Amino acid sequence: MSSTRPLIDQFGRTITYLRLSVTDRCDLRCTYCMPERQTFLPRKEVLSLEELHKLALGFIERGVTKIRLTGGEPLVRRDMIELVRALGRNLGQGLEELTLTTNATQLAQHADDLYVAGVRRVNVSLDTLDRATFAQLTRRDSLPQVLEGIAAAQAAGLAVKLNAVALKGVNEAEIPALVEWAHGQGMELTLIEVMPLGEVEGDRFDQYLPLSAVREDLEARYTLTPSPHRSGGPARYVDVAETGGRLGFITPLTGNFCEGCNRVRVTATGQLYACLGGTEQVDLRAALRGDNPDAALSAALDQAMRIKPERHHFVIDQLGAAPALARHMSATGG
Ligand code: SAM
Ligand code: SF4
Repeated sequence: MSSTRPLIDQFGRTITYLRLSVTDRCDLRCTYCMPERQTFLPRKEVLSLEELHKLALGFIERGVTKIRLTGGEPLVRRDMIELVRALGRNLGQGLEELTLTTNATQLAQHADDLYVAGVRRVNVSLDTLDRATFAQLTRRDSLPQVLEGIAAAQAAGLAVKLNAVALKGVNEAEIPALVEWAHGQGMELTLIEVMPLGEVEGDRFDQYLPLSAVREDLEARYTLTPSPHRSGGPARYVDVAETGGRLGFITPLTGNFCEGCNRVRVTATGQLYACLGGTEQVDLRAALRGDNPDAALSAALDQAMRIKPERHHFVIDQLGAAPALARHMSATGG
C-alpha cells in the first residue's frame, strides 16, 4: 500500500514515522516524568483498539513506514498485543517497522508474542542498574522485573536498545557502568537530556545534566569515535573502542536536531502533536468519530503538515521551575 500523497510539511520534511501512545497510564512513576499522584484520563477519552488500528492504517496509507507504540507504559494496556498483531499484518505492505518503547516491567510476559507479531526491536528505558536508585527514581522497586524483561526480549530474538535519561546527582556517576553493562550484553545505549515537559515534584534545573558535560567525562575515560550511523532520529552516535559498542546522545537542549525531523506524535486520546516541544495540535479522534472518518482523517493529516513548526523551543534555565509545556511526556508519548 504505497502512498500516493505523502505527508510533507511546509519545510519540505517528509513524515514517515508515527509515535503512537496507546495509554497515558504507567506502572512506574519516574520522578522526571510524572508526579506520584498522577491523574490519568478517563477510559472513554482514550482511543479504542479499533480506533487506534484505523488511525495507524490512515498513516500507513499516507506513507508512514515506521510506527512506534509508546505511552505511558504501552504494555499496561490490556489489548496491546492485539493491536500489535493487527498492525503487524501490515509489515511488508507499506509498514517497514513496528516497534515499541517500554519500561520492560512486563516485557518478560509479552516478548514472545511481540516477536511472533513481527516486532524485531524494542527500546527499553533504564536509567540505573542500582536497585535502590531505581526504586527512588521510579518510586517502585521493579528493577528485577525490568532486567528479567530485557533478558526475555533478547531470548525471544528481539534486539534491545537502551535509553537512559542523564540525571544530575542521580545516575551521573553510574553512566560509565551503564555503558559497559549495555555493551557487554550486546545492546546499544542512548543517553537523553531531561526535557521540560509537564509538572513534576521538584525543579527541572536540579535534574538537568547537559550531555556535553557527560560526553567530556566519557572522553576522558574511553576512546570515542564519531559514528556515521543514523537511526533516522535525533540521536548522534559514537563508537566506544574499549567496549566495542555504540553510544548515542540525544541533546534537545544542547544541540538542535529539528531540521531532519520525520515524525509526529499522537496521544492516547488521538491528539496529534506536530512537535514534541510545541503546542501545535490536530484532533484526530474527532475525525475518527465523525462522519466519513477516512476522508476526515486524511484531511486532518494535511492540516498537521500545514502547522508543523520548524523547530522546538525548549529552554531550561535557573529561573525555570515551570515546565516549558504543561503536558507530560507520558501523555504525548515519549
Ligand atoms: N513508559 C515507557 C518507557 O519509559 O519507556 C514509554 C513512555 S516514556 C514517556 C518514553 C521515554 O521518555 C522514556 O525513555 C523516558 O525516560 C522519557 N522521558 C519521560 N519524561 C522525560 C523528560 N521530561 N525528559 C526526557 N525524557 C523523558
Ligand atoms: Fe512511566 Fe515511562 Fe514515564 Fe517512567 S518514563 S513514568 S516508565 S511513562
